Amino acid sequence: MNRKELSIEYSRIYDEANKIFKKYNPCQFKGNECNRNRYWNERQIHKEKNGCCYDCSSIGPKGCKIKSISCKLFTCHIVRENYKQCEIEIAQLRKLTYKLFGSIPCGMSKSTLFYNCIAKDLERMGD
Ligand code: SF4
Ligand code: SF4
Repeated sequence: MNRKELSIEYSRIYDEANKIFKKYNPCQFKGNECNRNRYWNERQIHKEKNGCCYDCSSIGPKGCKIKSISCKLFTCHIVRENYKQCEIEIAQLRKLTYKLFGSIPCGMSKSTLFYNCIAKDLERMGD
């Protein structure tokens, strides 16, 4: 696959994951608290907000500003244990993402992945 095709595939996987999360709604956001945030907050173990994003600087009013696919495909233990079909479908996308892009650190933006990592790899391969 060339860079353009990989970019299209990245966005397709990201959008597909959004559809899966919308279909199963495993995070059950109420305000800025998700299922796991409530679990911790109700037990006063530690204070959590904004799902798994906490205070990440990339969070915007409409969610992640940088389309981080590794974050998008993350599921916590509450989702994994209670929404098994959701987890199966997300795991398939995780597998495909790994096959196409390798391991991507959490919080890495699409543009950083493409311009820093993939571009270098393709240059090495003489693309
Ligand atoms: S994956 Fe877990 S921690 Fe992340 S937003 Fe969903 S319920 Fe919250
Ligand atoms: S980079 Fe990850 S942690 Fe930060 S806002 Fe985006 S999804 Fe959330």
